[in-house]
Amino acid sequence: MNYTLLKFYILTCCLTFISCNVKTQINPQINKEPQTEKFNIIFLIGDGMGLSQLSSAYFYGEKEPNFSRFPFVGLSKTRSGSHKITDSAAGATAFSTGKKTYNGAIGVDMDTNAVETISEELAKNDWSIGFVSTSSITHATPASFYSHVSSRLMQQEIAKDLVYSDVDFIAGGGYNWFINRTDSLNYFDSLEQKGFFVDTNSVLTLPDNNQEKLAFLLSPDGMQAKHLGRDNFLSDATVRSIEFLNNKSEPFFLMIEGSQIDWGGHANSSEYVIQEVLDFDLAVGAALDFAEKQGNTLVIVTADHETGGFTMAAEQGFGPFMTITRDYNKLTPVFSTGGHSSTMVPVLASGPGAEKFCGIYENTKIHSLFRQLTNMNSQK
Ligand code: MG
Ligand code: ZN
Repeated sequence: MNYTLLKFYILTCCLTFISCNVKTQINPQINKEPQTEKFNIIFLIGDGMGLSQLSSAYFYGEKEPNFSRFPFVGLSKTRSGSHKITDSAAGATAFSTGKKTYNGAIGVDMDTNAVETISEELAKNDWSIGFVSTSSITHATPASFYSHVSSRLMQQEIAKDLVYSDVDFIAGGGYNWFINRTDSLNYFDSLEQKGFFVDTNSVLTLPDNNQEKLAFLLSPDGMQAKHLGRDNFLSDATVRSIEFLNNKSEPFFLMIEGSQIDWGGHANSSEYVIQEVLDFDLAVGAALDFAEKQGNTLVIVTADHETGGFTMAAEQGFGPFMTITRDYNKLTPVFSTGGHSSTMVPVLASGPGAEKFCGIYENTKIHSLFRQLTNMNSQK
């Protein structure tokens, strides 16, 4: 990390603490009003979205990003149980189970034992559950919430786990893992037998009947990249899933992933990254629009890790005698790696309990806060 970036991080941390402390002192009653609406959680994961990726929305977007609407900010330390640099499987399993595990692990601990996930636990307590992703819905991040396999590569097994898990709404790519399988099984049939309306066209398709569950599997594997023409799938799916889940009498837990911020980072393509971040920000806005109106929904935005060592650096040139010049008014997005990096990632929080997400902590704390807040708010 260069010195300027380090200073930026230190400043951000200081501002974070100041912002959190000031808010608590000014209004100690914040979020303490009696709530009548059911308590929900919307958990948005920008895969690979470090602070620079998030910042790109402020330089390349046309309006103030929805990220600015969060009153509380923290930083999450992302290392996995096996490596200083995590992958998405271990990163999401930390959120879903509270366990640091090895890179590649899906919903299992260091010894490959299955660990109950937050969404499984909430489903047992009659919460409705939804997953939205711009990757295959069987990809590492969503899979870590409903599947328990030793490797993220076992996508056929992961698809089977999804069919037999307690989930009410899914939207993303990956239908090949359900219907074009090496074992010739047809898991669309199984989904329909379980009460799902299954559609492969659009997340806006209306079911013929009042099906209890909805599954939108819209591409053979990952969805199209935003900069190559993906439509408003992510924000449409966000609105659709919230409407559908909120119509039920139970509270809901909804995980929404902007999967391809990570893929842009791996490709070292700043256009790919930035378009995915801006698209993710629209989904964040849709979630906040609902939460602010409903009044008792916690919205958390974070990342599993940073990807690409992405930085918006100053444009460099050469002055007299081959001295290097830098134009601080011209940004040049650069990458330091084609892989992930170890940097901390932002956590943005809004809604009941949001102030607890301030500070610097391990990614597993997000799981423990979800548990703490749902027990506090559950009607058991
Ligand atoms: Mg992912
Ligand atoms: Zn990645």
